[in-house]
Order: sequence, then C-alpha cells, then structure tokens
Amino acid sequence: MSSESAHQHNAACLELFAKLSEYLDRELEPDTCEKIEQHLKDCPPCRSCLQTLKRTVEFCKSMKNKPVPSELSSRLRSMLEQLR
Ligand SMILES: [Zn+2]
Repeated sequence: MSSESAHQHNAACLELFAKLSEYLDRELEPDTCEKIEQHLKDCPPCRSCLQTLKRTVEFCKSMKNKPVPSELSSRLRSMLEQLR
C-alpha cells in the first residue's frame, strides 16, 4: 500500500484541529502556520471547517457578551466527530 494513506491524512486533520484555534489567534510559530496552510490547500474538508470556525470566532467576537448559539457549536462538534 503506497497510495496516500487515508489514516495518515486523518491523523494530520486531527493534529490540525488541535491547533486551529491557536492558528486563528495567530499564536503559532510561522513553521506551524505554514504546515497548516499547506494541509488546508490539500484538504477541502478541513478548509470548509476552517471557514466555519472562522465565522464562529468572528461571530463570537462581535457578540462578546452573548453565549455561542448552541446550533453553531453543535455543528462544529459534529464536524469534529466526523473526523474521528
Ligand atoms: Zn485535513
């Protein structure tokens, strides 16, 4: 089996997700950011997740004092579940 392993890809996705919020907050080393951007280029599912996460973060920032709508957070959670 020499083709790109789906398992390996999935592990990379999980690693990416662990760092995604830091990535959005620009708290990562440039090296790590680059790795994430590289991964996002090759991984449409992660890209769409990032879009959703970004929108969620911006939404939360714009509504500082209000709780995150459960609809949004459960959508994010189900995306994560799919990667498991
Ligand atoms: Zn991915």
